[in-house]
Amino acid sequence: MTTIQDLAPKLNRTAADIVRLLMMAGEMVTATQSLPDEMIELIAEELGATVILVEPGMEAELELQKLFDDDDDDEDDSLLEQRPPVVTVMGHVDHGKTKLLDRIRQANVVAGEAGGITQHIGAYQSVQNGRKITFIDTPGHEAFTAMRARGADATDIVILVVAADDGVMPQTIEALNHAKTAEVPIIVAINKIDRENADPDKVRRQLTEQELVPEEWGGETMMVEVSALEGLGVDDLLEAILLVADVEDLRANPKAPVRGLVLEANLDSGRGPVATVLVERGTLRVGDPMVAGHAWGRVRAMLDEFGNQVPEAGPSVPVQVLGFDEVPYAGDELRVAPDDRTARVVAESRARRRRLAGIGGGTGYTGGTKLEDIFAHIQSGEVTTLNLVLKADVQGSLEALTESLRKLERDEVKLGFVHRAVGGITESDVNLANVSNATIIGFNVRPDRKAREIAEHEGVELRLYEVIYQALEDIEAAMVGMLKPEFEEVVTGEAEVREVFSVPRVGKVAGCYVRSGTITRGSKVRFLRDGVVIWKGEIASLKRFKEDAREVQTGYECGIGLENYQDLKGGDLIETYTIREIPRV
Ligand code: GDP
Repeated sequence: MTTIQDLAPKLNRTAADIVRLLMMAGEMVTATQSLPDEMIELIAEELGATVILVEPGMEAELELQKLFDDDDDDEDDSLLEQRPPVVTVMGHVDHGKTKLLDRIRQANVVAGEAGGITQHIGAYQSVQNGRKITFIDTPGHEAFTAMRARGADATDIVILVVAADDGVMPQTIEALNHAKTAEVPIIVAINKIDRENADPDKVRRQLTEQELVPEEWGGETMMVEVSALEGLGVDDLLEAILLVADVEDLRANPKAPVRGLVLEANLDSGRGPVATVLVERGTLRVGDPMVAGHAWGRVRAMLDEFGNQVPEAGPSVPVQVLGFDEVPYAGDELRVAPDDRTARVVAESRARRRRLAGIGGGTGYTGGTKLEDIFAHIQSGEVTTLNLVLKADVQGSLEALTESLRKLERDEVKLGFVHRAVGGITESDVNLANVSNATIIGFNVRPDRKAREIAEHEGVELRLYEVIYQALEDIEAAMVGMLKPEFEEVVTGEAEVREVFSVPRVGKVAGCYVRSGTITRGSKVRFLRDGVVIWKGEIASLKRFKEDAREVQTGYECGIGLENYQDLKGGDLIETYTIREIPRV
Protein backbone atom coordinates (compact mmCIF):
# COMPACT_ATOMS: atom_id res chain seq x y z
CA MET A 1 0.00 0.00 0.00
CA THR A 2 1.25 3.43 -0.86
CA THR A 3 -0.24 6.87 -1.43
CA ILE A 4 0.00 9.14 -4.42
CA GLN A 5 2.13 11.45 -2.34
CA ASP A 6 4.67 8.68 -1.76
CA LEU A 7 4.50 7.38 -5.28
CA ALA A 8 4.74 10.60 -7.28
CA PRO A 9 8.40 11.45 -6.58
CA LYS A 10 9.45 7.91 -7.50
CA LEU A 11 7.86 8.43 -10.91
CA ASN A 12 9.30 11.91 -11.26
CA ARG A 13 5.82 13.44 -11.24
CA THR A 14 3.88 15.63 -8.89
CA ALA A 15 0.99 14.27 -6.90
CA ALA A 16 -1.33 16.51 -8.91
CA ASP A 17 -0.15 14.87 -12.18
CA ILE A 18 -1.17 11.49 -10.88
CA VAL A 19 -4.50 12.57 -9.44
CA ARG A 20 -5.26 14.04 -12.85
CA LEU A 21 -4.21 10.87 -14.63
CA LEU A 22 -6.44 8.74 -12.43
CA MET A 23 -9.29 11.14 -12.82
CA MET A 24 -9.08 10.69 -16.57
CA ALA A 25 -9.19 6.95 -16.03
CA GLY A 26 -12.39 7.45 -14.05
CA GLU A 27 -10.87 6.97 -10.58
CA MET A 28 -11.39 9.68 -7.99
CA VAL A 29 -8.53 9.43 -5.54
CA THR A 30 -7.00 11.93 -3.12
CA ALA A 31 -3.25 12.38 -2.74
CA THR A 32 -3.12 10.91 0.76
CA GLN A 33 -5.34 7.91 0.16
CA SER A 34 -3.75 4.45 0.02
CA LEU A 35 -3.78 2.93 -3.44
CA PRO A 36 -4.40 -0.74 -4.14
CA ASP A 37 -1.56 -2.55 -5.91
CA GLU A 38 -3.53 -2.87 -9.17
CA MET A 39 -3.96 0.88 -9.34
CA ILE A 40 -0.26 1.46 -8.81
CA GLU A 41 0.49 -0.94 -11.64
CA LEU A 42 -1.98 0.91 -13.85
CA ILE A 43 -0.41 4.28 -13.13
CA ALA A 44 3.07 2.94 -13.75
CA GLU A 45 1.99 1.39 -17.00
CA GLU A 46 0.46 4.65 -18.16
CA LEU A 47 3.69 6.45 -17.34
CA GLY A 48 5.93 3.79 -18.82
CA ALA A 49 7.54 2.76 -15.55
CA THR A 50 8.03 -0.66 -14.06
CA VAL A 51 6.83 -1.43 -10.58
CA ILE A 52 8.35 -3.98 -8.35
CA LEU A 53 6.06 -4.61 -5.45
CA VAL A 54 8.16 -4.86 -2.35
CA GLU A 55 6.69 -6.28 0.78
CA PRO A 56 5.40 -3.30 2.71
CA GLY A 57 7.93 -1.96 5.15
CA MET A 58 10.73 -4.05 3.69
CA GLU A 59 12.10 -1.09 1.85
CA ALA A 60 12.18 1.05 4.94
CA GLU A 61 13.67 -1.77 6.89
CA LEU A 62 16.38 -2.32 4.31
CA GLU A 63 17.17 1.37 4.34
CA LEU A 64 17.29 1.42 8.08
CA GLN A 65 19.43 -1.68 8.17
CA LYS A 66 21.81 -0.11 5.68
CA LEU A 67 22.11 2.91 7.89
CA PHE A 68 23.06 0.68 10.78
CA ASP A 69 25.40 -1.50 8.73
CA ASP A 70 27.27 1.47 7.35
CA ASP A 71 27.51 2.84 10.76
CA ASP A 72 28.80 -0.41 12.30
CA ASP A 73 31.62 -0.46 9.80
CA ASP A 74 33.11 2.94 10.30
CA GLU A 75 33.59 2.62 14.03
CA ASP A 76 36.51 5.00 14.44
CA ASP A 77 38.84 3.92 17.22
CA SER A 78 39.22 7.45 18.52
CA LEU A 79 35.46 7.70 19.13
CA LEU A 80 35.38 4.70 21.43
CA GLU A 81 35.20 5.24 25.15
CA GLN A 82 35.62 2.83 28.00
CA ARG A 83 32.32 1.32 29.06
CA PRO A 84 31.28 -0.74 32.11
CA PRO A 85 31.50 -4.52 31.76
CA VAL A 86 28.20 -6.41 31.56
CA VAL A 87 28.23 -9.39 33.89
CA THR A 88 25.97 -12.47 34.09
CA VAL A 89 26.01 -14.77 37.12
CA MET A 90 25.63 -18.51 36.53
CA GLY A 91 26.00 -21.72 38.49
CA HIS A 92 24.25 -24.69 40.04
CA VAL A 93 20.97 -24.19 41.86
CA ASP A 94 21.38 -23.13 45.53
CA HIS A 95 25.05 -22.26 45.14
CA GLY A 96 24.24 -18.65 46.00
CA LYS A 97 23.76 -16.75 42.72
CA THR A 98 20.81 -14.72 43.99
CA LYS A 99 22.44 -14.05 47.33
CA LEU A 100 25.59 -12.82 45.62
CA LEU A 101 23.65 -10.51 43.30
CA ASP A 102 21.73 -9.14 46.28
CA ARG A 103 24.88 -8.64 48.30
CA ILE A 104 26.58 -6.71 45.50
CA ARG A 105 23.50 -4.62 44.93
CA GLN A 106 23.18 -3.67 48.59
CA ALA A 107 26.85 -2.96 49.18
CA ASN A 108 27.79 -1.13 46.07
CA VAL A 109 24.86 0.73 44.63
CA VAL A 110 25.71 3.67 42.42
CA ALA A 111 27.15 6.50 44.52
CA GLY A 112 24.58 8.92 45.83
CA GLU A 113 21.81 6.42 45.44
CA ALA A 114 22.63 4.41 48.53
CA GLY A 115 19.61 3.92 50.71
CA GLY A 116 17.29 4.08 47.73
CA ILE A 117 14.95 1.17 47.31
CA THR A 118 16.11 -0.87 44.39
CA GLN A 119 13.57 -2.41 42.11
CA HIS A 120 14.07 -5.50 40.09
CA ILE A 121 14.26 -4.29 36.50
CA GLY A 122 16.44 -7.09 35.13
CA ALA A 123 19.80 -5.41 35.55
CA TYR A 124 21.56 -2.99 37.85
CA GLN A 125 24.83 -1.12 38.16
CA SER A 126 27.23 -1.23 41.04
CA VAL A 127 30.33 0.85 41.72
CA GLN A 128 33.80 -0.33 42.64
CA ASN A 129 36.72 2.12 42.88
CA GLY A 130 34.62 4.72 41.14
CA ARG A 131 34.04 2.43 38.17
CA LYS A 132 30.68 1.00 37.25
CA ILE A 133 29.83 -2.65 36.62
CA THR A 134 26.54 -3.72 35.09
CA PHE A 135 24.98 -6.91 36.43
CA ILE A 136 22.27 -8.83 34.62
CA ASP A 137 19.87 -9.63 37.40
CA THR A 138 18.47 -12.90 36.07
CA PRO A 139 20.94 -15.51 37.17
CA GLY A 140 21.31 -18.78 35.31
CA HIS A 141 22.23 -19.82 31.85
CA GLU A 142 18.72 -20.31 30.47
CA ALA A 143 18.16 -16.61 29.93
CA PHE A 144 21.72 -16.17 28.70
CA THR A 145 21.32 -18.97 26.16
CA ALA A 146 17.91 -17.85 25.01
CA MET A 147 19.38 -14.40 24.34
CA ARG A 148 22.30 -15.84 22.46
CA ALA A 149 20.01 -17.99 20.40
CA ARG A 150 18.35 -14.79 19.26
CA GLY A 151 21.70 -13.37 18.21
CA ALA A 152 22.21 -11.20 21.27
CA ASP A 153 25.60 -11.31 22.94
CA ALA A 154 25.32 -8.74 25.68
CA THR A 155 27.37 -10.45 28.36
CA ASP A 156 31.06 -9.54 28.60
CA ILE A 157 31.97 -11.61 31.64
CA VAL A 158 30.40 -14.64 33.29
CA ILE A 159 30.67 -15.18 37.03
CA LEU A 160 30.46 -18.90 37.70
CA VAL A 161 29.31 -19.44 41.27
CA VAL A 162 30.37 -22.74 42.85
CA ALA A 163 29.53 -23.51 46.47
CA ALA A 164 32.68 -24.58 48.29
CA ASP A 165 30.83 -27.20 50.33
CA ASP A 166 29.02 -28.75 47.41
CA GLY A 167 31.63 -28.52 44.67
CA VAL A 168 31.13 -28.76 40.92
CA MET A 169 27.64 -30.00 40.04
CA PRO A 170 25.89 -30.80 36.74
CA GLN A 171 24.56 -27.28 36.24
CA THR A 172 28.00 -25.86 37.02
CA ILE A 173 29.34 -27.80 34.05
CA GLU A 174 26.37 -26.85 31.92
CA ALA A 175 26.87 -23.17 32.71
CA LEU A 176 30.57 -23.51 32.05
CA ASN A 177 29.92 -24.97 28.62
CA HIS A 178 27.44 -22.28 27.74
CA ALA A 179 29.96 -19.61 28.68
CA LYS A 180 32.74 -21.38 26.78
CA THR A 181 30.52 -21.82 23.73
CA ALA A 182 29.85 -18.11 23.83
CA GLU A 183 33.57 -17.43 24.26
CA VAL A 184 32.87 -15.19 27.21
CA PRO A 185 35.61 -14.92 29.86
CA ILE A 186 34.77 -16.67 33.13
CA ILE A 187 35.58 -15.64 36.69
CA VAL A 188 34.85 -18.26 39.33
CA ALA A 189 33.30 -17.19 42.63
CA ILE A 190 33.95 -19.97 45.12
CA ASN A 191 31.05 -19.23 47.46
CA LYS A 192 30.02 -20.23 50.97
CA ILE A 193 33.58 -20.26 52.30
CA ASP A 194 32.10 -19.42 55.70
CA ARG A 195 30.80 -22.96 55.90
CA GLU A 196 32.71 -25.41 58.05
CA ASN A 197 32.89 -28.07 55.41
CA ALA A 198 33.98 -25.62 52.70
CA ASP A 199 36.75 -27.05 50.53
CA PRO A 200 37.76 -24.39 47.99
CA ASP A 201 40.72 -26.42 46.73
CA LYS A 202 38.42 -29.27 45.83
CA VAL A 203 36.46 -26.82 43.68
CA ARG A 204 39.72 -25.73 42.02
CA ARG A 205 40.64 -29.37 41.32
CA GLN A 206 37.22 -30.18 39.91
CA LEU A 207 37.26 -27.12 37.68
CA THR A 208 40.75 -27.95 36.48
CA GLU A 209 39.31 -31.26 35.28
CA GLN A 210 36.87 -29.16 33.25
CA GLU A 211 39.83 -27.30 31.73
CA LEU A 212 39.27 -24.22 33.83
CA VAL A 213 42.61 -23.88 35.58
CA PRO A 214 43.01 -21.32 38.39
CA GLU A 215 45.59 -18.56 37.92
CA GLU A 216 47.30 -19.55 41.15
CA TRP A 217 47.92 -22.96 39.60
CA GLY A 218 49.36 -21.52 36.42
CA GLY A 219 46.09 -21.35 34.53
CA GLU A 220 44.17 -18.40 33.17
CA THR A 221 41.02 -18.31 35.26
CA MET A 222 40.62 -15.99 38.22
CA MET A 223 38.99 -17.77 41.13
CA VAL A 224 37.87 -15.68 44.09
CA GLU A 225 36.77 -17.07 47.44
CA VAL A 226 33.64 -15.35 48.71
CA SER A 227 30.82 -15.62 51.17
CA ALA A 228 27.73 -14.01 49.77
CA LEU A 229 26.11 -14.49 53.16
CA GLU A 230 28.73 -12.60 55.15
CA GLY A 231 29.96 -10.32 52.39
CA LEU A 232 33.50 -11.74 52.46
CA GLY A 233 35.60 -11.42 49.32
CA VAL A 234 32.93 -9.54 47.39
CA ASP A 235 35.28 -6.58 46.88
CA ASP A 236 37.94 -8.93 45.53
CA LEU A 237 35.42 -10.36 43.12
CA LEU A 238 34.49 -6.89 41.87
CA GLU A 239 38.20 -6.05 41.49
CA ALA A 240 38.63 -9.22 39.46
CA ILE A 241 35.77 -8.16 37.20
CA LEU A 242 37.44 -4.81 36.57
CA LEU A 243 40.75 -6.52 35.80
CA VAL A 244 39.15 -8.80 33.25
CA ALA A 245 37.25 -5.83 31.82
CA ASP A 246 40.56 -4.01 31.32
CA VAL A 247 42.07 -7.00 29.55
CA GLU A 248 39.03 -7.23 27.32
CA ASP A 249 39.32 -3.50 26.60
CA LEU A 250 35.58 -2.94 26.57
CA ARG A 251 34.73 0.20 24.68
CA ALA A 252 31.82 1.70 22.78
CA ASN A 253 31.02 4.91 20.99
CA PRO A 254 28.49 6.90 23.04
CA LYS A 255 27.78 9.11 20.03
CA ALA A 256 27.02 6.25 17.64
CA PRO A 257 23.45 5.53 16.53
CA VAL A 258 21.83 3.68 19.39
CA ARG A 259 21.75 -0.08 19.60
CA GLY A 260 20.38 -1.79 22.69
CA LEU A 261 19.03 -5.08 23.87
CA VAL A 262 15.65 -5.73 25.45
CA LEU A 263 16.35 -7.71 28.63
CA GLU A 264 12.79 -8.00 29.83
CA ALA A 265 9.47 -6.44 28.97
CA ASN A 266 5.96 -6.45 30.32
CA LEU A 267 2.69 -4.64 30.20
CA ASP A 268 2.19 -2.39 33.19
CA SER A 269 -1.43 -1.55 33.92
CA GLY A 270 -0.64 2.10 34.62
CA ARG A 271 2.33 2.80 32.39
CA GLY A 272 1.68 0.64 29.36
CA PRO A 273 4.46 -1.43 27.79
CA VAL A 274 7.66 -1.24 29.84
CA ALA A 275 10.93 -2.70 28.63
CA THR A 276 14.27 -2.92 30.38
CA VAL A 277 16.86 -2.08 27.77
CA LEU A 278 20.59 -2.48 28.02
CA VAL A 279 22.17 0.17 25.83
CA GLU A 280 25.08 -1.33 23.89
CA ARG A 281 26.27 1.67 21.92
CA GLY A 282 25.19 5.25 21.43
CA THR A 283 23.14 7.20 23.95
CA LEU A 284 19.40 6.69 24.25
CA ARG A 285 17.49 9.86 25.06
CA VAL A 286 13.97 10.78 26.02
CA GLY A 287 12.09 11.69 22.85
CA ASP A 288 14.05 9.35 20.54
CA PRO A 289 11.98 7.42 17.99
CA MET A 290 12.76 3.76 18.62
CA VAL A 291 11.96 0.31 17.31
CA ALA A 292 12.49 -3.06 19.01
CA GLY A 293 11.22 -6.14 17.21
CA HIS A 294 7.59 -5.47 16.34
CA ALA A 295 7.21 -2.62 18.86
CA TRP A 296 7.91 1.04 18.24
CA GLY A 297 7.33 4.41 19.82
CA ARG A 298 9.05 7.46 21.18
CA VAL A 299 10.96 7.22 24.43
CA ARG A 300 8.45 8.82 26.79
CA ALA A 301 10.51 8.35 29.95
CA MET A 302 13.45 6.35 31.20
CA LEU A 303 13.92 5.05 34.73
CA ASP A 304 16.94 3.61 36.48
CA GLU A 305 16.82 0.72 38.95
CA PHE A 306 15.76 3.12 41.74
CA GLY A 307 12.77 4.36 39.80
CA ASN A 308 14.44 7.73 39.15
CA GLN A 309 13.81 9.39 35.83
CA VAL A 310 16.93 9.71 33.72
CA PRO A 311 17.19 11.87 30.59
CA GLU A 312 19.72 9.65 28.81
CA ALA A 313 21.45 6.29 28.98
CA GLY A 314 24.84 5.53 27.44
CA PRO A 315 26.70 2.26 26.71
CA SER A 316 26.24 -0.60 29.23
CA VAL A 317 23.54 1.32 31.11
CA PRO A 318 20.30 -0.57 31.83
CA VAL A 319 17.11 1.49 31.86
CA GLN A 320 13.41 0.92 31.91
CA VAL A 321 12.01 2.44 28.77
CA LEU A 322 8.42 3.70 28.51
CA GLY A 323 6.70 4.67 25.29
CA PHE A 324 6.43 1.52 23.18
CA ASP A 325 3.11 0.90 21.44
CA GLU A 326 3.34 -2.81 22.25
CA VAL A 327 5.41 -5.04 24.48
CA PRO A 328 8.61 -6.10 22.70
CA TYR A 329 10.17 -9.51 23.36
CA ALA A 330 13.17 -10.11 25.58
CA GLY A 331 16.11 -10.51 23.21
CA ASP A 332 14.81 -7.97 20.69
CA GLU A 333 17.32 -5.44 19.46
CA LEU A 334 16.43 -1.80 20.03
CA ARG A 335 17.40 0.80 17.47
CA VAL A 336 16.83 4.50 17.34
CA ALA A 337 15.31 5.36 13.98
CA PRO A 338 15.81 8.59 12.06
CA ASP A 339 12.13 9.44 12.51
CA ASP A 340 8.82 8.13 13.82
CA ARG A 341 7.66 6.97 10.47
CA THR A 342 10.67 4.74 9.85
CA ALA A 343 10.31 3.24 13.30
CA ARG A 344 6.64 2.53 12.74
CA VAL A 345 7.03 1.09 9.26
CA VAL A 346 9.83 -1.21 10.34
CA ALA A 347 7.90 -2.39 13.38
CA GLU A 348 4.74 -3.00 11.40
CA SER A 349 6.56 -4.92 8.72
CA ARG A 350 8.20 -7.12 11.32
CA ALA A 351 4.90 -7.68 13.07
CA ARG A 352 3.41 -8.83 9.81
CA ARG A 353 6.29 -11.16 9.09
CA ARG A 354 6.22 -12.50 12.61
CA ARG A 355 2.56 -13.30 12.22
CA LEU A 356 3.21 -14.97 8.89
CA ALA A 357 6.07 -17.02 10.20
CA GLY A 358 4.15 -17.79 13.35
CA ILE A 359 7.23 -17.46 15.49
CA GLY A 360 8.38 -15.10 18.17
CA GLY A 361 11.83 -14.40 16.78
CA GLY A 362 12.97 -11.03 15.55
CA THR A 363 16.66 -11.30 15.02
CA GLY A 364 18.85 -14.35 15.34
CA TYR A 365 18.33 -17.79 13.92
CA THR A 366 14.96 -17.32 12.38
CA GLY A 367 15.88 -18.50 8.92
CA GLY A 368 16.40 -22.15 9.70
CA THR A 369 14.96 -25.00 7.70
CA LYS A 370 13.82 -28.29 9.15
CA LEU A 371 15.81 -31.37 8.31
CA GLU A 372 12.88 -32.99 6.56
CA ASP A 373 12.33 -29.92 4.35
CA ILE A 374 15.92 -29.28 3.50
CA PHE A 375 15.93 -31.15 0.19
CA ALA A 376 13.00 -29.17 -1.18
CA HIS A 377 14.89 -25.99 -0.42
CA ILE A 378 18.07 -27.23 -2.05
CA GLN A 379 16.12 -28.21 -5.14
CA SER A 380 14.58 -24.80 -5.40
CA GLY A 381 18.10 -23.40 -5.55
CA GLU A 382 17.86 -21.46 -2.31
CA VAL A 383 20.69 -21.32 0.12
CA THR A 384 19.37 -22.76 3.35
CA THR A 385 20.59 -23.04 6.87
CA LEU A 386 20.05 -26.19 8.84
CA ASN A 387 19.97 -25.02 12.43
CA LEU A 388 20.96 -27.59 15.01
CA VAL A 389 20.88 -27.93 18.75
CA LEU A 390 23.44 -30.57 19.70
CA LYS A 391 23.37 -32.36 23.01
CA ALA A 392 25.78 -35.16 23.85
CA ASP A 393 26.84 -37.27 26.79
CA VAL A 394 30.40 -36.00 27.05
CA GLN A 395 32.42 -33.07 25.73
CA GLY A 396 34.51 -35.37 23.53
CA SER A 397 31.58 -36.75 21.59
CA LEU A 398 30.09 -33.29 21.28
CA GLU A 399 33.27 -32.00 19.67
CA ALA A 400 33.57 -35.06 17.43
CA LEU A 401 29.97 -34.70 16.29
CA THR A 402 30.37 -30.98 15.63
CA GLU A 403 33.55 -31.47 13.63
CA SER A 404 32.06 -34.24 11.49
CA LEU A 405 28.91 -32.23 10.88
CA ARG A 406 30.88 -29.20 9.78
CA LYS A 407 32.39 -31.31 7.01
CA LEU A 408 28.93 -31.82 5.54
CA GLU A 409 28.48 -28.11 4.91
CA ARG A 410 28.16 -27.13 1.30
CA ASP A 411 27.56 -23.97 -0.67
CA GLU A 412 23.82 -24.42 -0.65
CA VAL A 413 23.43 -25.79 2.87
CA LYS A 414 24.96 -24.06 5.83
CA LEU A 415 24.82 -25.40 9.33
CA GLY A 416 23.93 -23.14 12.22
CA PHE A 417 24.89 -24.45 15.62
CA VAL A 418 22.34 -22.74 17.77
CA HIS A 419 23.44 -24.48 20.90
CA ARG A 420 25.85 -27.25 21.78
CA ALA A 421 26.16 -28.69 25.23
CA VAL A 422 26.70 -31.77 27.31
CA GLY A 423 23.73 -33.27 29.12
CA GLY A 424 20.20 -34.53 28.69
CA ILE A 425 17.74 -32.71 26.45
CA THR A 426 15.76 -30.23 28.52
CA GLU A 427 12.79 -27.95 28.16
CA SER A 428 15.10 -25.02 27.53
CA ASP A 429 16.78 -26.89 24.64
CA VAL A 430 13.42 -27.57 23.04
CA ASN A 431 12.29 -23.97 23.45
CA LEU A 432 15.52 -22.82 21.94
CA ALA A 433 15.11 -25.17 18.99
CA ASN A 434 11.54 -23.99 18.59
CA VAL A 435 12.36 -20.28 18.36
CA SER A 436 15.29 -20.90 16.06
CA ASN A 437 13.57 -23.53 13.90
CA ALA A 438 16.32 -25.95 14.73
CA THR A 439 16.49 -29.73 14.76
CA ILE A 440 17.74 -31.26 17.98
CA ILE A 441 20.40 -33.92 17.65
CA GLY A 442 20.97 -35.96 20.79
CA PHE A 443 23.94 -38.23 21.05
CA ASN A 444 23.70 -40.77 23.85
CA VAL A 445 21.30 -38.50 25.69
CA ARG A 446 17.54 -38.46 26.08
CA PRO A 447 14.90 -35.80 26.48
CA ASP A 448 13.21 -35.60 29.85
CA ARG A 449 9.46 -35.98 29.90
CA LYS A 450 8.71 -32.26 29.82
CA ALA A 451 11.09 -31.76 26.91
CA ARG A 452 9.52 -34.62 24.98
CA GLU A 453 6.02 -33.25 25.56
CA ILE A 454 6.91 -29.76 24.39
CA ALA A 455 8.75 -31.11 21.36
CA GLU A 456 5.70 -33.13 20.38
CA HIS A 457 3.34 -30.27 20.97
CA GLU A 458 5.42 -27.66 19.15
CA GLY A 459 6.52 -30.00 16.37
CA VAL A 460 10.20 -29.66 17.17
CA GLU A 461 12.23 -32.33 15.39
CA LEU A 462 14.19 -34.39 17.83
CA ARG A 463 16.62 -37.04 16.63
CA LEU A 464 18.49 -39.34 18.94
CA TYR A 465 21.58 -41.30 18.01
CA GLU A 466 24.03 -43.65 19.60
CA VAL A 467 26.53 -43.81 16.77
CA ILE A 468 27.97 -40.67 15.20
CA TYR A 469 28.01 -41.94 11.65
CA GLN A 470 24.28 -42.63 11.81
CA ALA A 471 23.66 -38.99 12.63
CA LEU A 472 25.90 -37.94 9.75
CA GLU A 473 24.26 -40.41 7.38
CA ASP A 474 20.83 -39.09 8.20
CA ILE A 475 21.76 -35.48 7.64
CA GLU A 476 23.57 -36.29 4.45
CA ALA A 477 20.60 -38.33 3.28
CA ALA A 478 18.27 -35.45 4.09
CA MET A 479 20.39 -33.19 1.93
CA VAL A 480 19.94 -35.46 -1.10
CA GLY A 481 16.29 -36.05 -0.30
CA MET A 482 16.67 -39.63 0.71
CA LEU A 483 15.99 -39.95 4.36
CA LYS A 484 15.82 -43.64 5.03
CA PRO A 485 12.96 -45.21 6.92
CA GLU A 486 13.40 -44.27 10.44
CA PHE A 487 13.24 -46.64 13.32
CA GLU A 488 11.54 -45.16 16.23
CA GLU A 489 12.05 -46.27 19.73
CA VAL A 490 8.76 -46.19 21.53
CA VAL A 491 9.22 -45.62 25.22
CA THR A 492 7.00 -48.11 27.04
CA GLY A 493 7.79 -47.31 30.65
CA GLU A 494 9.78 -45.14 32.97
CA ALA A 495 10.86 -46.10 36.48
CA GLU A 496 12.73 -43.96 38.96
CA VAL A 497 15.31 -45.56 41.22
CA ARG A 498 14.45 -44.72 44.82
CA GLU A 499 16.68 -47.11 46.77
CA VAL A 500 19.36 -49.64 46.02
CA PHE A 501 19.51 -53.03 47.72
CA SER A 502 22.25 -55.61 47.73
CA VAL A 503 20.80 -59.08 47.39
CA PRO A 504 23.13 -61.99 48.11
CA ARG A 505 24.09 -63.97 44.98
CA VAL A 506 22.01 -61.64 42.80
CA GLY A 507 23.89 -58.35 43.27
CA LYS A 508 22.37 -54.86 43.24
CA VAL A 509 18.65 -54.46 42.83
CA ALA A 510 16.96 -51.10 42.31
CA GLY A 511 13.89 -50.30 44.36
CA CYS A 512 11.87 -48.33 41.84
CA TYR A 513 8.70 -46.36 41.39
CA VAL A 514 7.05 -46.65 37.97
CA ARG A 515 6.44 -43.08 36.83
CA SER A 516 4.77 -43.83 33.53
CA GLY A 517 3.85 -46.72 31.23
CA THR A 518 4.49 -50.31 32.14
CA ILE A 519 7.73 -52.01 33.05
CA THR A 520 7.89 -55.51 31.57
CA ARG A 521 10.36 -58.24 32.43
CA GLY A 522 12.90 -58.91 29.69
CA SER A 523 12.30 -55.60 27.93
CA LYS A 524 15.07 -53.43 26.56
CA VAL A 525 16.20 -50.64 28.83
CA ARG A 526 18.22 -47.51 28.80
CA PHE A 527 19.72 -46.48 32.08
CA LEU A 528 19.90 -42.72 32.61
CA ARG A 529 21.67 -40.49 35.07
CA ASP A 530 20.93 -36.75 34.74
CA GLY A 531 19.46 -37.36 31.30
CA VAL A 532 22.58 -39.08 30.00
CA VAL A 533 22.42 -42.70 28.85
CA ILE A 534 25.04 -44.51 30.86
CA TRP A 535 24.10 -48.10 30.12
CA LYS A 536 21.87 -50.10 27.79
CA GLY A 537 20.69 -53.65 28.11
CA GLU A 538 17.82 -55.70 29.43
CA ILE A 539 15.86 -56.15 32.59
CA ALA A 540 16.98 -59.37 34.24
CA SER A 541 14.55 -59.50 37.13
CA LEU A 542 11.35 -57.77 38.07
CA LYS A 543 9.71 -58.19 41.44
CA ARG A 544 6.72 -56.91 43.40
CA PHE A 545 7.01 -57.58 47.14
CA LYS A 546 9.65 -60.28 46.64
CA GLU A 547 7.42 -62.06 44.10
CA ASP A 548 8.45 -62.28 40.47
CA ALA A 549 6.26 -60.07 38.33
CA ARG A 550 5.71 -60.11 34.58
CA GLU A 551 4.86 -56.44 34.43
CA VAL A 552 4.36 -53.49 36.75
CA GLN A 553 2.09 -50.55 35.99
CA THR A 554 2.39 -46.79 36.57
CA GLY A 555 2.14 -45.73 40.19
CA TYR A 556 3.45 -49.01 41.68
CA GLU A 557 6.75 -49.82 43.26
CA CYS A 558 8.92 -52.69 42.15
CA GLY A 559 12.40 -54.13 42.34
CA ILE A 560 14.41 -54.16 39.13
CA GLY A 561 17.62 -56.05 38.50
CA LEU A 562 19.58 -55.19 35.39
CA GLU A 563 21.52 -57.79 33.45
CA ASN A 564 25.20 -57.50 34.32
CA TYR A 565 24.89 -53.96 35.58
CA GLN A 566 25.43 -52.86 39.14
CA ASP A 567 26.16 -49.12 39.25
CA LEU A 568 22.77 -47.97 40.54
CA LYS A 569 21.96 -44.79 42.46
CA GLY A 570 18.88 -43.08 43.83
CA GLY A 571 17.45 -40.64 41.28
CA ASP A 572 18.60 -42.68 38.27
CA LEU A 573 16.01 -43.46 35.64
CA ILE A 574 15.23 -46.75 33.93
CA GLU A 575 13.51 -46.31 30.60
CA THR A 576 12.07 -49.35 28.77
CA TYR A 577 11.38 -49.27 25.06
CA THR A 578 10.52 -51.20 21.91
CA ILE A 579 11.54 -50.42 18.36
CA ARG A 580 9.23 -49.87 15.42
CA GLU A 581 9.76 -48.63 11.91
CA ILE A 582 8.13 -45.36 10.97
CA PRO A 583 6.87 -45.45 7.41
CA ARG A 584 8.05 -42.45 5.35
CA VAL A 585 5.37 -40.46 3.68
P1 GDP B 1 20.80 -19.73 43.86
O1 GDP B 1 19.81 -20.83 43.64
O2 GDP B 1 22.13 -20.08 43.25
O3 GDP B 1 20.32 -18.37 43.45
O4 GDP B 1 21.09 -19.71 45.42
P2 GDP B 1 20.59 -18.69 46.54
O5 GDP B 1 21.26 -17.39 46.42
O6 GDP B 1 19.11 -18.73 46.59
O7 GDP B 1 21.21 -19.40 47.84
C1 GDP B 1 20.81 -20.69 48.25
C2 GDP B 1 20.98 -20.86 49.74
O8 GDP B 1 22.35 -20.76 50.10
C3 GDP B 1 20.25 -19.77 50.53
O9 GDP B 1 19.68 -20.37 51.66
C4 GDP B 1 21.35 -18.80 50.92
O10 GDP B 1 21.08 -18.13 52.11
C5 GDP B 1 22.54 -19.75 51.07
N1 GDP B 1 23.81 -19.07 50.82
C6 GDP B 1 24.11 -18.30 49.74
N2 GDP B 1 25.38 -17.84 49.84
C7 GDP B 1 25.88 -18.31 51.01
C8 GDP B 1 27.14 -18.17 51.67
O11 GDP B 1 28.06 -17.52 51.22
N3 GDP B 1 27.28 -18.85 52.84
C9 GDP B 1 26.28 -19.58 53.39
N4 GDP B 1 26.52 -20.20 54.53
N5 GDP B 1 25.09 -19.72 52.79
C10 GDP B 1 24.88 -19.10 51.62
